[in-house]
Amino acid sequence: MNDCLFCKIINGEIPSKKVYEDELVYVFEDIAPAAPIHYLLIPKKHISGASEITAENSSVVAHIFEVIAKLAKDLNLKNGFRVVTNCGPDAGQTVFHLHYHLIAGRELDVKMA
Ligand code: 5GP
Ligand code: ZN
Repeated sequence: MNDCLFCKIINGEIPSKKVYEDELVYVFEDIAPAAPIHYLLIPKKHISGASEITAENSSVVAHIFEVIAKLAKDLNLKNGFRVVTNCGPDAGQTVFHLHYHLIAGRELDVKMA
């Protein structure tokens, strides 16, 4: 059985605030936003994290970045935005389904670590 939280969000078992969806990706609001705009972009097909991206599944990553650029235009994020993915315990990954945080809407701390 797939016990993945984000797979459950994709299939509607767990509710979420959807921002965008297509055949490959699902985008929804983070439950604990770090900024006025804080979305999570996830592939519909389960990949556990950035360390599991391969030649076979990497095309969805390019697609996710196309969606990020589209959302940035649609949301008029002229002042910029940040994209983050955490992988593994040192980076504080808490959900083991690949996701990209899209964070925007205020001036962000320059410090990355
Ligand atoms: P990570 O820490 O793995 O990089 O990011 C996981 C993100 O998922 C966190 O920012 C957290 O707030 C968000 N999150 C955890 N559980 C849920 C949930 O049930 N719904 C939504 N929308 N976001 C969640
Ligand atoms: Zn999953």
